[in-house]
Amino acid sequence: MRYDTLIVGAGFAGLYMLHRLRGLGHRARVLEAAAGVGGTWYHNRYPGARCDVQSMDYSFSFSEELQNEWDWSEKYATQPEILRYANFVADRLDLRRDIQFETRVESARYDEGENLWRIETDTGEVLEARYYVIATGCLSVPKAIDIEGTDDFQGQSYHTADWPREGVDFSGLRVAVIGTGSSAVQSIPIIAGQARELTVFQRTPAYSLPAFNRPLDEAERAAWRAEYPEHRHRSRYSLFGVPDYPMDKGAFDVSDEERAAAYEAAWQTGTLIAILQQYNDLLVDEKANETAAEFVRNKIRGIVEDPEVAETLCPKSFPIGTKRACLDTNYYQTFNLPHVHLVDVRKTPIERVTARGVKTADQEREFDAIVYATGFDAMTGAIVNVDVRGRGGRELKDKWADGPRTYLGLTVSDFPNLFMITGPGSPSVMSNMIISIEQHVDWICDCLSWMAAHGYDTVEAGSDAEQGWVEHVNEVANATLFPQANSWYMGANVPGKPRLFLPYIGGVGPYRVKCEEVAAADYEGFRFGQGGKVGATRPAAAG
Ligand code: NAP
Repeated sequence: MRYDTLIVGAGFAGLYMLHRLRGLGHRARVLEAAAGVGGTWYHNRYPGARCDVQSMDYSFSFSEELQNEWDWSEKYATQPEILRYANFVADRLDLRRDIQFETRVESARYDEGENLWRIETDTGEVLEARYYVIATGCLSVPKAIDIEGTDDFQGQSYHTADWPREGVDFSGLRVAVIGTGSSAVQSIPIIAGQARELTVFQRTPAYSLPAFNRPLDEAERAAWRAEYPEHRHRSRYSLFGVPDYPMDKGAFDVSDEERAAAYEAAWQTGTLIAILQQYNDLLVDEKANETAAEFVRNKIRGIVEDPEVAETLCPKSFPIGTKRACLDTNYYQTFNLPHVHLVDVRKTPIERVTARGVKTADQEREFDAIVYATGFDAMTGAIVNVDVRGRGGRELKDKWADGPRTYLGLTVSDFPNLFMITGPGSPSVMSNMIISIEQHVDWICDCLSWMAAHGYDTVEAGSDAEQGWVEHVNEVANATLFPQANSWYMGANVPGKPRLFLPYIGGVGPYRVKCEEVAAADYEGFRFGQGGKVGATRPAAAG
C-alpha cells in the first residue's frame, strides 16, 4: 500500500500528527505495536503511575473542544485517566480508522530512485510512503536488565514499563523492588500497602518532591480554562513547557533565611520545577545547587524516622535536577513502615537473581515477586530499534554510533523526508511533552505545506546545519551541571551507550523561537528538491 505519510506510534505525538496531516489532505496511516492508543500510558500500568506535570497542563492545547470537553479529576492524573483521555482524543477526532494496531515496524528504508520510504512490519506487510514520521516516544523501550540470573527466578517477575493489563495483587507476598527512579518512587508506596514484606534495592537515591496531589473541582477547572489562552502562550515560550517562575536572582543574592523560606514555599507547590526555578544559577553553579539539594535532604531527614535509613535515602552523588527529580505521594513515609526494608546496593552489590530471590554481597533474600523499575533505553532506543536506512543504504544506527546527530531534533541528514517528533536534540523530555509534541507536529506540517506551495517533495537536513546543531546542543549542555550525573539524559544508564546529553536544554521557548526563525528564513539549513534530488544547502542556522 502506498501512503503520503506513515507515522510510527499512536501515543499523543502520533495521534496529533495524524489529525494534522488529515487536515493537509495527506493519505496518512499510523502503525502501532500495541493493541490500543496511548503509547507510554498504554504500557506503564504499574501501581501508582501518574503524570508529574499537572493534568491541566498535560493535555492538548490545539483544540478548544478537547480542552473544554475533558474534565481532569485530579491535579496529577493517574495512568488510567490519561489512557482514557488518549482514547477520548482518538474517538473525538475519529482517528482509529487510520491506525493499524498490533503492527510493529521492523525496518524502514529510503528508496532513492522512487523517493519513498518502504516500511516492513512484523505482520509481513510492506507499506510505502513519501514521508516517514517517527512518533515512538522518548521512554518506550525498557533497558535490558543488566543483572545476572533474572531468568532463574521461580517467583513472579514484573517490569514497571511492561505491566500486565489485568494488574497485579501483591497481597500477602514478599516483594522486591529494584530501582529508585520515578517508576519505583510512585509504585513503592502502593506495593507497600499490599505486600507482606517489601524490600527496596537502591543503587542511587533520587531527589523526590511531594506532589500534594488532590482532586480538582469544577471551579478550579473553570479558573484554569479562563486563563488558558495566556497560560498556554506562556508555556510555549517557557523553559520547561509550563509557565516559568521569575528567576531574577542567584541563590546567594538573598539571605539564608530568605532562601529557606523560598524553598519551603516552592516545596509546598507540589511541582517539579518550583524549587529548581527559585534561582537562576541552580542548574549551572554547584554551590548554588547544593543549597537546594541540602534543603531536600533535610526534608528527607525530617520525614524518615530511622536516621540511618534517612541518610541512605539522601542523594549526594549528583546535583539536584540533573537527573529527573521524582514527584511522589508518601514515598519517604513508606520507609517508616515496619515491613518495608531498604538495601543499599552500593554497599552490598546485587550479585545475581537466584531461583528464590536476590543475592547481594552479604546475603540471599527470598521473595515471591520481583519488580524491576530499572528504566529505559531513552530517547534513541525506540528509533534505532527499527532498521532505518537512508541514502545509499546508510544505517541510522551506524550514523548514531557515537551519539545521535540531528538538525533541531527533527531531521537527520542523509535521511530525506524523515521527521522525528521530540527526537534527540530537542527539548522533549526536558519539557511538558504535550507542548513539545504540538510544536513539532505544527512545525512539520508548516514545512510540508511550504514544500507543497513551492513544488518540492523532498526535504533533507544539510550536514553543516546538522553539525552546527549537534555542537550547539552539546555546548549548551556543557555549560550546565547536567553532564555531572550518570543519568538517562546522558545515556549513562545503559552499558555501552555513548555518554552525551541527549535532549536540548536551551529551553522550550528559545528552541521554539529558533525553529520559527529557521522556517521564516525559508527553512534555513535544509535542502529541498524533487524526486529525491535536493538542491544546495541553505546556510546553517547559528545556535
Ligand atoms: P530510571 O529513572 O532510569 O530509574 C531506574 C532505577 O533503576 C534507578 O534507580 C537505577 O539506579 C536503577 N537500576 C537500574 N539498573 C540497575 C541495576 N542493575 N541494579 C540496581 N539498580 C538498577 O527509570 P524510571 O524510574 O522508569 O524513570 C525513567 C523516566 O521516566 C523518569 O525519569 C521520568 O522522566 C519518566 N517517568 C515519569 C513518571 C511520571 O511522570 N511521574 C513516572 C515514571 C517514569 P541508578 O540510578 O544507579 O542507575
